[in-house]
Parts: sequence; C-alpha cells; structure tokens
Amino acid sequence: MIKNYVGGAWREASGTDSLAVMNPASGEEIGRVPLSTAADMDAAVQAAKAAYPAWRDTPAPERARVLFRLKSLLEEHKEELARLLVTEHGKVLPETRGEVQRGIENVEHACGVPTLMMGDTVEQIAAGIDSASWRQPLGVFGIITPYNFPVMIPLWFWPYAVATGNSVVLKPSEQDPLTHQKIVELAEQAGLPPGVLNVVHGGRETVEAMCDHPDIVGVSFVGSSHVAKIVHTRASASGKRVQALGGAKNYMIVLPDADMDVALEACSGSIFGSTGQRCLAGSVIVGVGDAHAQIRDRMLDSAASIRLGDGLQPGTDMGPLISAAHRDRVNAFIDQGVSDGAKLSLDGRGATVEGLEGGYWVGATVFADVPPDVSIATEEVFGPVAGINRAKDIDEAIRMMHASRYGNACSIFTTSGKAAREFRYQAGISMIGVNIGVAAPMAFFPFGGSKGSFYGDLKAQGRDGIFFYTDQRVVISRW
Ligand code: NAD
Repeated sequence: MIKNYVGGAWREASGTDSLAVMNPASGEEIGRVPLSTAADMDAAVQAAKAAYPAWRDTPAPERARVLFRLKSLLEEHKEELARLLVTEHGKVLPETRGEVQRGIENVEHACGVPTLMMGDTVEQIAAGIDSASWRQPLGVFGIITPYNFPVMIPLWFWPYAVATGNSVVLKPSEQDPLTHQKIVELAEQAGLPPGVLNVVHGGRETVEAMCDHPDIVGVSFVGSSHVAKIVHTRASASGKRVQALGGAKNYMIVLPDADMDVALEACSGSIFGSTGQRCLAGSVIVGVGDAHAQIRDRMLDSAASIRLGDGLQPGTDMGPLISAAHRDRVNAFIDQGVSDGAKLSLDGRGATVEGLEGGYWVGATVFADVPPDVSIATEEVFGPVAGINRAKDIDEAIRMMHASRYGNACSIFTTSGKAAREFRYQAGISMIGVNIGVAAPMAFFPFGGSKGSFYGDLKAQGRDGIFFYTDQRVVISRW
C-alpha cells in the first residue's frame, strides 16, 4: 500500500478502503492506493499551513535553488522514471520519456521565479505619488490531477505554487500514482522543507474534502469536463480561486493544398499516440474537398499497420488503455457508432497481444464518414478512434468544429499562410496547431482550453501559473 506524504513524513492513510494499481499491459496488480478520508486531507492541510510562513519568508532565489536541484535530480533519474511510468500507465517508452522531459521543462521555468514574480512600478502616477505592485503568495493550494500524464500534469502546477512561496496538497490520480511518489522523494532530496509539498491519495471523497476545506485558498484541477465542472462549482462555493481543465474533442482540418505526408504523420500521431488518451489528441479529421479521399485512404493504411504491445518492448507503436473499465467504455462508443450509422472502416475491438492476453487492448479504429450528431462525433472517447469527415470548403470545416461543445485544441494542415491566419482568427479554440498535430504549448506559454474544456480564468503553466498562485498587492505612496 502506498503512503501519503504529510509534513515531510510518509504516513498511512486512516481509512481502510483501497484500490489496486494495475499494469495495463498485463492486467497484473503492481500496487495499492489508499482512499484517504477527510481527516487525512485535514492532516495534510494543517501540515501545509504550518510550513507556509517560513517558506514564504524564504527568499525567492533560495526557493528557486531547491527547484534547480530538483531539475538536476529529475534529469539524473529520467530513464528510471520513464520506465516506471510505462508499467503503470501503458504508453510506450518514447512517449514516457517525452512526458518526463515536458515535466522537467516546467520545473526549469519555475526556477525563474525571482524574475517571473516581479511587479510593476510607475513613478509620479499623480502629483508626488508613486505606485507599485507586488506579487505575493496566498497560502495552501490544492492540486487534483488525472491519470493520463501522471508525471507531467502535477508538474504543471506544484513547482509554480511552491516557487511563488505557497504550500501544496496534491491529490494524484488513483489509477497511476506510483511514479510521482518517486518525484516527491526527489523533491525531498532536493531540500524542499517538510510540509511545503504534501500528497494525499484517494478518489472522489478525498477531492470533495479538498474542495470544502476552509484553509485551502485555491484549487488547480485537470480531468474530465464533468468532474472539472463539479470541482469548479464546489471549490468556488467556498471562496477559493479555481482553474479546472477539462476534456476535449479536437478537430484536425486538412486543406487540399496541405503537404499530405506532413498531415498524415501529424494526424496519425495525434489520434493514436498514447492510445488516444491525451486531452490534445486529434479525434475528428475533416478533409476539405479533394483532401478528404486522400487523407482517409492514407490514414486507413497507416492505422492498419500500428503494432500493439508492451510499451517497454522496442517496436511497439501503441500500448493498452489504462483499465478494463476504460477499454469497455471505448468499445461501447465504437458499438454505438456502428448502431448510429457511422461507417466503421477499421475495427480495433477485440484486439489482443500474444502473451499479454490480460491487458486492456483496443486496436487503432477508424470511422470514415460519421453523422454529425451521434455520440462518436460529439463525445470525448479518449481512445484510439478516428472519425474522418468531408467539408466542401474551410468555412464549412470551421462550422463543423464550432458545433462542438469542447474547445481544447484544433489543427489545420495547409501550405497557405492566408488560410492558416483565417483559421487562427476564426477558430475560437485556445490551443491551435498549424501543421502540428498535438498543439501542446511549451512550459513558457499557458496551457488550457475554452468552452466546455475549461472552467476558470488563469490557465496552467507559463505566466498564468505564476499569476494563479499569487495575488497582486498594489501600493500607492506619497512621502
Ligand atoms: P477524471 O475526471 O476521472 O479524474 C480526474 C481527477 O478527479 C482524479 O484525481 C480523480 O480521482 C478525481 N475524480 C474523479 N471523479 C470524481 C468525482 N466524481 N468527484 C471528485 N473528484 C473526482 O479524469 P481522468 O479519467 O483521470 O483523466 C482523463 C480526462 O482528463 C479526460 O477527459 C482528458 O481530456 C482530461 N484531461 C484534460 C487535460 C487538459 O489540459 N484540459 C489534460 C489531461 C487530461
């Protein structure tokens, strides 16, 4: 049974309920995670509250130095973390290496906190009066993260929160919490004082205790839109600031003038990478005019050649889904798509891998021609399933995209600067790829969506991360 990390000590949760952590490629149990109670949450919040005053008083460059040391330790342990991550998540090793790297980049960015926290000044804003703003930390923040990037997503948040002088309680996903335990050990080794970062494992009840806790000043959440909305509403109700990043249904528009090799590689990587379990994964390809038949035929050929397997084995293109329940959910979406009249051209249901029959497999699946209002076209599947549709021109393609209630990411493939500009102007979606399949902002830019993909104001990473975890105090002075 893994332990909570409270006040710098590894502690057993007080409740008796727990869940299994599985290796999704084999279906074997590799650990157990406790379902912590409201009392466990309170203990962590009290530890964070106690640590806050001294940590806030620690000069910003000293706080940054702890993160510099963590960055070096993460680099030293990069391969070990990437391999461990394959065993609890299932994605393939090159993908877990990429995830660890993206996490490290957030730690690197947070190391710049003495500069990032700078305020503004104006002399003589009125006669004999000067004005200046300071960014100050707020206290204890709660962070709740999903299963699909269990290394990177916590690092979108807690390094910024602690760099700015706050303390934190993290509630990682109960489905794959093991690799981040190792990162917490490294943070301790880097010199992060006891109580500045605390970890409480659990599920719904643990999250609810965090949302309701009177001593938590703000909550960062990433997960499905349904839960994002619940967390946003519940935590806001007790006066907390909240940023809640939700689900997605991402469109990829291919124009007839696109470089089809670039479009194919990007669309295929986006839809089937991480077995479709990414909030930035492409889901619907819209081929405009003649591009439709070309991208459809090439996607079908390429998807049919994707090899399923254990992510640690060289030559594996795609790993399993996270759980048996999620595999069944993805299969149910495919079943429903077929009954709703979508044309199933490549069927990944029932896929298996020799020697790993207990794994949670779904092969690459392609629907060519999907009616616009059926569930496979409108809902987030979060699996290796592509829908390919046709539009007569870019305006119709953008209208199709606008009909989605989600607004996380979108991409266009074209060699026309004018078309790309028009797309950016009209998209109404927060993360936009131009000849890029996974429109992932780097650590220096904000990460988060619009419409039903995001509840809140300030996003993850970048300057938004600094702003979310600080308040601007403005001083107006006359001497
Ligand atoms: P999830 O919503 O099931 O769980 C997310 C977190 O919320 C977990 O820590 C979980 O324990 C907790 N939780 C689950 N149900 C809850 C409930 N009823 N009440 C309170 N807390 C609850 O999401 P997931 O399946 O772990 O992750 C996949 C989802 O996350 C997808 O929808 C994906 O698009 C989304 N996601 C979004 C982004 C983004 O940047 N927008 C990034 C990654 C993942």
